[in-house]
Amino acid sequence: MRKILIVGAGQSGLQLALGLQDKGYEVTLMSNRTADEIRSGRVMSTQCMFDTALQHERDLGINFWESQAPRIEGLGVSVAAPGSHEGPDGSQRAIDWVGRLDGYAQSVDQRVKMAGWMETFAQRGGQLVIHGAAVSDLDFFAGRYDLTLVSAGKGELVSMFGRDASRSPYDAPQRALAVSYVHGMGPRPEHPDVEAVRCNLVPGVGELFVMPTLTTSGRADILFWEGIPGGPLDVFRSVKDPEEHLATTLELMKTFLPWEYARCTKAELTDAGGTLAGRYAPTVRNPVGKLPSGGLVLGVADVVVANDPITGQGSNSAAKCAASYLTSIVERGEEPFDEDWMQAAFDRYWKTAQHVTKWTNAMLAPPPEHVLNIIGAAGQIQPIADRFANGFDDPSDFENFFYDPDKANAYLASLTG
Ligand SMILES: Cc1cc2nc3c(=O)[nH]c(=O)nc-3n(C[C@H](O)[C@H](O)[C@H](O)COP(=O)(O)OP(=O)(O)OC[C@H]3O[C@@H](n4cnc5c(N)ncnc54)[C@H](O)[C@@H]3O)c2cc1C
Repeated sequence: MRKILIVGAGQSGLQLALGLQDKGYEVTLMSNRTADEIRSGRVMSTQCMFDTALQHERDLGINFWESQAPRIEGLGVSVAAPGSHEGPDGSQRAIDWVGRLDGYAQSVDQRVKMAGWMETFAQRGGQLVIHGAAVSDLDFFAGRYDLTLVSAGKGELVSMFGRDASRSPYDAPQRALAVSYVHGMGPRPEHPDVEAVRCNLVPGVGELFVMPTLTTSGRADILFWEGIPGGPLDVFRSVKDPEEHLATTLELMKTFLPWEYARCTKAELTDAGGTLAGRYAPTVRNPVGKLPSGGLVLGVADVVVANDPITGQGSNSAAKCAASYLTSIVERGEEPFDEDWMQAAFDRYWKTAQHVTKWTNAMLAPPPEHVLNIIGAAGQIQPIADRFANGFDDPSDFENFFYDPDKANAYLASLTG
């Protein structure tokens, strides 16, 4: 059977490794950390995944935590009232609604999922190598495999893949990221029975995302600030320890989003690894990497298309990329995995990924008037809220009503008569 090397054991690398293993390929997976190191380490993401991406896991029978993870049925948008923190109804919110998802979303802490999948891969006879690969390692190993895939996320190996400037409008980070996993957070009082992702927008300042998750210690909630660089939320670089990180997170919530702060009177960190801070520039790269001695490697998921997490798409895209590449690899049969095939495999994935990149980059910019109109109207017209929410599952739909003012106005007119 054909031999495949996968470097990087995240959402895309592990999903692809398990999928190829299932089809009888001889798979070697290289990870810079053991399963136990991942499980007891720091959180890496908020990893909310929507129905289409979750279905790829179900298709492979690797949805091991589906029955335990909270079912996220809705996606809400709240906008802090500009200027003062008091809105017209005294609620401090200028906009506040929840869209219903057609299929539920779920977040399973990557520490739980990746550690579990890695153990499953090894138990099923996969070759697991614990080693942080350098380009020189790949140069040495790649010749021994029919195909080498680099799924190492945003780590140093991305230097093998040139930046595609035509698809990367930003050359610097657009948000400063700060994540806290907490136990003890209360429900939103207005919808106590609906598990939902809450997108809280503070115009000119940033966003706070709140969502339920399944972590190493059971059900928890994630508080995720995305701050405009240089603004009042961009204060986490000087934070010294996890407790200070949570205290800073809560203080900012008290200032900008008191309705979410009110849910947090009993919030405490899930564990010492339950916080994360960082930033990166959204970047699309050329998919084929050339090794010093001439070998070729194919980039996967974040290696080739890394979007800002403002739209919560990276794990979804990683699952979609892994599923798309699996199909391309299997369809290739015994033919060589040459440069043309690599480019074609990426182009097939880009048909989906381009919509994610376009939408995510649009959401990083201040919203134009027609977008404000859509978000505002969603508070009165439930189908708009539902459509926006389901766009997180399939961002290609935003092409039909979101970017172009004429299409947006026509859509709103079709609903309001
Ligand atoms: C704060 C934050 C919040 C997010 N929230 C969401 C969300 O809600 N929804 C969503 O869909 N996405 C979200 N994302 C994005 C998502 O986490 C990533 O896009 C996704 O994990 C990418 O998957 P991947 O397989 O490409 O890479 P990764 O998950 O990054 O996996 C790469 C793996 O390779 C390993 N590795 C790195 N270098 C080497 C090396 N040299 N040798 C061997 N192994 C190596 C790494 O340790 C890691 O295990 C978020 C990201 C961040 C930072």
